[in-house]
Amino acid sequence: MRKKILAANWKMNLSFVEAQAWLSQFKSSNTTKNLVDFQLYAPSLYLQSLAQQEVLTVGAQNVHPKESGAFTGELSISQLKSVGASSVLIGHSERRQYFQESNFFLKEKVDACCQQDYAFIFCCGEDLETRRAGAHLNFITDQLQASLLHLEPAKLSLLTIAYEPIWAIGTGETADTTQINEVHAHIRQLLESTFGEKGAEVSILYGGSVNASNAQSIFACPDVDGGLIGGASLNAQSFIELAHCFK
Ligand code: PEP
Repeated sequence: MRKKILAANWKMNLSFVEAQAWLSQFKSSNTTKNLVDFQLYAPSLYLQSLAQQEVLTVGAQNVHPKESGAFTGELSISQLKSVGASSVLIGHSERRQYFQESNFFLKEKVDACCQQDYAFIFCCGEDLETRRAGAHLNFITDQLQASLLHLEPAKLSLLTIAYEPIWAIGTGETADTTQINEVHAHIRQLLESTFGEKGAEVSILYGGSVNASNAQSIFACPDVDGGLIGGASLNAQSFIELAHCFK
């Protein structure tokens, strides 16, 4: 059974005090975990504190593939585990774009997660130029083939995929449901042709300016299993409301 997931990506936003207030609000809402699997990708500095509760999974926005060593400013999977963070984002377009993370480097991160049985959301998605050229499906195939599709089927339970068209992230512009359906069905087909039946069990999230007014139609798409939410996750109430947009 594919899980319904709502994952908040705070990026480099919220102070520690604001983060604690967000969590208190989340905890005091009537939201029950069985509505959907809530995940929170917070600044690494806050992970230890935020992970001390059981209402949502807390994860990091980035990780280094090496176990330890001279990588100033980086964090390893073991370090994330040691403070209670249980998942990580890999391949977010902002990491690819602003920090030049290549498909090869992302493959190393995927391999590190698999070696350490660490859950991850793998992000993929095209830029506007690629979309306009009609090359988006090939582009996404290439991203997945280069970094992800080599993993052993036994490790698929660690994986969630997020399709995030770059032109829709933080722009207020959302892909329409025809565009979303097309890409999600394509990713599903890639997973099933690579991994067989097990590929059908991987959750695929949509990300890109999701909010309470568009979430219902997006989450109704047959291959959409939830969302990776940036802007609309910064307020606990608007994030929680999205859980009610699943049919
Ligand atoms: C994201 O950061 O992954 C994202 C989808 O952001 P937003 O919801 O703000 O577009």
